[in-house]
Amino acid sequence: MNVVVVGGGMVGAGAAVSLAKQGHHVTVIEAGKAAASEGDWDLRISSIHLRNVEWLEELATWSNIRAERKFMYTDLAVQTVDGQRLNFSNTDVDCSALGAMVENNALQEALWGQFSEHNIRVYSETRVEQFDLADRTVALSNGEKLTYDLLLGADGAQSQVAKAAQIGQRGWDYDMHCMLAIADVEQPLPAATWEVFRHQGPFALLPLGPNQACLIDYRSQQQWQEFAGNSDAIKQSLCEVFAPHIGAHTISKFAGFPLRRQRALRYTSHDSVALIGDAAHSIHPLAGQGVNLGFADVQELTTQLAANSLLQALKNYERIRMHENQQMMRAMDAIHVGFRSQHFLPRGLLAAGLTLVDRVAPMKRLLVRKAIGF
Ligand SMILES: Cc1cc2nc3c(=O)[nH]c(=O)nc-3n(C[C@H](O)[C@H](O)[C@H](O)COP(=O)(O)OP(=O)(O)OC[C@H]3O[C@@H](n4cnc5c(N)ncnc54)[C@H](O)[C@@H]3O)c2cc1C
Repeated sequence: MNVVVVGGGMVGAGAAVSLAKQGHHVTVIEAGKAAASEGDWDLRISSIHLRNVEWLEELATWSNIRAERKFMYTDLAVQTVDGQRLNFSNTDVDCSALGAMVENNALQEALWGQFSEHNIRVYSETRVEQFDLADRTVALSNGEKLTYDLLLGADGAQSQVAKAAQIGQRGWDYDMHCMLAIADVEQPLPAATWEVFRHQGPFALLPLGPNQACLIDYRSQQQWQEFAGNSDAIKQSLCEVFAPHIGAHTISKFAGFPLRRQRALRYTSHDSVALIGDAAHSIHPLAGQGVNLGFADVQELTTQLAANSLLQALKNYERIRMHENQQMMRAMDAIHVGFRSQHFLPRGLLAAGLTLVDRVAPMKRLLVRKAIGF
């Protein structure tokens, strides 16, 4: 089957490698340049859960990721400002780790590095100029015309494929900005990621090595605007939040990202088009699930294509993944609203929930397994 993947981000590149390994002829169209991981950690880092680390191992991608741009973590904690804390550990589920922090560029670079070995054609800095979905052809900005059996929209939240297929999107801005910072930390850190929920939004730490971390601070757009771009004031504010938890540290770089929730109203169209990754769903990153869901889309699609006709595979893919992804989106919304509430009822319920889960071992194990993708 001829597969054209529009978008060579982590999900599109993952789909390309996975489908090529299944024997399909794959072409990737990417508007940007080929991803390159160089210098210090980039700010765009993803927590990849264990199931997806294993999937990347199956694809033979994992070992190609630069060793210094991936870091396995064994513990995960969530905490409220009221002091309730829930800890998950790899020992709760008898696994070697819960997942890994990976630089997005490094993961994308490793996937792209496999393209030639699987005869995947790639056009970088190229766009689709025209879609003819009835004829199953796309005309590219370099003048070429490609025909396909399956067109995958892996082109992110502003998906051009979704627009061409007239797939509606529903979404809203969270009115939140997420500030990401890379910090060098004086005291060695455990291989643990944690998140503290407070009224104005959570703050979290992703460990990148014994003395390096990615700091994440979610606040309203208005709160960040009060700093009027004064970088010393922003660093100072981050320091006030994180120093009580990690001690002395130096921030080398930081940047803010707006947060938006969006979902496609359908995942498939024209019996030959499917949306995957952020093109189908972009969610609040507070639980680090975005690219994990995108990789799960790819796994489901690949499984369905191996067992069914294209038409049936697309139907099954849409039904299964839409249900799963919407459940996760609703869960993120509940956490986002519940933990920010100052009302005693949702706060009390969440606190009681954390305590209960911490005490009931089978429930805890179930939650950890869900969090790591099993
Ligand atoms: C602050 C923040 C933190 C996050 N942390 C995590 C985390 O810890 N764990 C996690 O799982 N997820 C996380 N996410 C979510 C994750 O980054 C996204 O879900 C993921 O990047 C989506 O990958 P994608 O390949 O679907 O889309 P994208 O990364 O958006 O890639 C789309 C690609 O398509 C290309 N493109 C776009 N339009 C076109 C076009 N018309 N033609 C050709 N190419 C095109 C783009 O150049 C890009 O390369 C986070 C997100 C944010 C904002």
